[in-house]
Amino acid sequence: MFIVMITPECAPAAKVGGLADVVHGLSKELAIRGNAVEIIMPKYDCMRYDRIWGLTKSYADLWVPFYSRWVHCDVYFGWMDGLKCFFIEPHLDRNFFNRGVFYGHQDDAERFAFFCRAAMEFMFKSNKRPDIIHCHDWQTALAPVLLYEMYQHLGMSHPRVCFTLHNVGHQGISGEYVLREVGLNPGALMTYDRLLDDYRRGAINLMKGGIVYSNFVTTVSPRYAQEISYTHLGMGMQRILGMHCQKLGGVLNGIDYGVWNPEIDAHIAKSYGIASLHDKYANKEALRRHLWLRDGMKPILSFVGRLDPQKGVDLILHTVAYCLERGCQFVLLGSSPHGHINTAFWNLKRRFNDHPDCHLELGYNEELAHLIYAGSDMILVPSEYEPCGLTQIIGLKYGTVPIVRNTGGLADTVFDANYAPKPYHERNGYVFNDYNLQGLESALERAIGMWNIYPQYFRELMVNGMRCDYSWNHPGQHYLNIYNYIKA
Ligand code: ADP
Repeated sequence: MFIVMITPECAPAAKVGGLADVVHGLSKELAIRGNAVEIIMPKYDCMRYDRIWGLTKSYADLWVPFYSRWVHCDVYFGWMDGLKCFFIEPHLDRNFFNRGVFYGHQDDAERFAFFCRAAMEFMFKSNKRPDIIHCHDWQTALAPVLLYEMYQHLGMSHPRVCFTLHNVGHQGISGEYVLREVGLNPGALMTYDRLLDDYRRGAINLMKGGIVYSNFVTTVSPRYAQEISYTHLGMGMQRILGMHCQKLGGVLNGIDYGVWNPEIDAHIAKSYGIASLHDKYANKEALRRHLWLRDGMKPILSFVGRLDPQKGVDLILHTVAYCLERGCQFVLLGSSPHGHINTAFWNLKRRFNDHPDCHLELGYNEELAHLIYAGSDMILVPSEYEPCGLTQIIGLKYGTVPIVRNTGGLADTVFDANYAPKPYHERNGYVFNDYNLQGLESALERAIGMWNIYPQYFRELMVNGMRCDYSWNHPGQHYLNIYNYIKA
């Protein structure tokens, strides 16, 4: 099968969060299974070019209609970890993708609407006729709209579209001018069963367009599929998802065990596996040395992730002092585009900067993330909502016991040591229900208590987690089944 991924991110060169890992891991799995996979993404100035091999201009004459003119684009080709990637570079005075960051601009909707039109135009002009176009999140949601409203009539009738919702919290809300800019007729699309937003008068909702126009819609865990269809976590999408429920499915993300695996991880101090779990301790020592933490019989609890309100920022802030009071060490690696959150964490960092049991690293650091997963005893994911969450899945593989809230993919992957309706050998972490300090503390207390008082049971939890298979093997097959279903 020939599959084209249209995506705003792909690890390792352009990564903001889990979406990048998912596109990378899924594409690799599909390629290993004998499918032809190509990735189309914007050519950002802030990509890690050291992670792209053989970058060359492969298509220099792409002219993309945009508003009342044609924009000249170059398309580059390069290999990213063995994957074929095309990078679109528009030559436009507005510098859509040369802004030093991936997202966070006033005109994000226009930037990515343009990208969708350019990606479709590139496929059309270069005669690519994939069986499946797989789009990811609102940034690429206009691709199926363009396919069925425009390119199908120009002869691209073959491809079918799978659209994955990685996070319904970001929907791409904008004005109708965005449609006109990319050559679509707002008149036909501005209805409630198409792109018109259900709640914001006169606004278009790009994600909604992706849902309506795709042949199949997936989200990144079964629990999240339920939550967005039937609860407030749908964030206004419940009605349209209900209308299209026959083509909605939840496929739990995997992780790439070629990248996230303590047995072969080049970024950690010492490799280890279930049979050599004692070597995890060398990584704990290395992490302490790296972050200037003191030695001692204390567990290390960590957080790695975007510092977004979704991630439970207030609970994370509370955990720092709580941990230190309970004789734990606390490590945080995270960054935030939100000014007030950034300030709160910088203040906390200043307050605990000299504390021998605490380190807050504010920024993005791929290599340090690996060492934190390997060197910590527990990893915290207290999200208010979590479509899938990769940090807890990575934690499990590294024998780092997750402490999570009972939501989305966290609920599908972590099973409470004390209360899960599962046999003991399948329990792998700590789960709390209520999004508040009592809920959080109930789980932290049990986890820290277990580490201190019953280390042998804690070790069993670690091993149970390491035994789980959250590779791309199952989800890879699941996606192929979906592709075959819509292709038929
Ligand atoms: P989300 O997609 O909501 O950001 P996920 O848990 O699905 O959250 O994925 C987060 C991914 O990004 C993980 O691979 C995690 O290790 C990585 N990550 C997040 N923040 C950072 C950071 N500051 N430095 C390094 N890696 C990070």
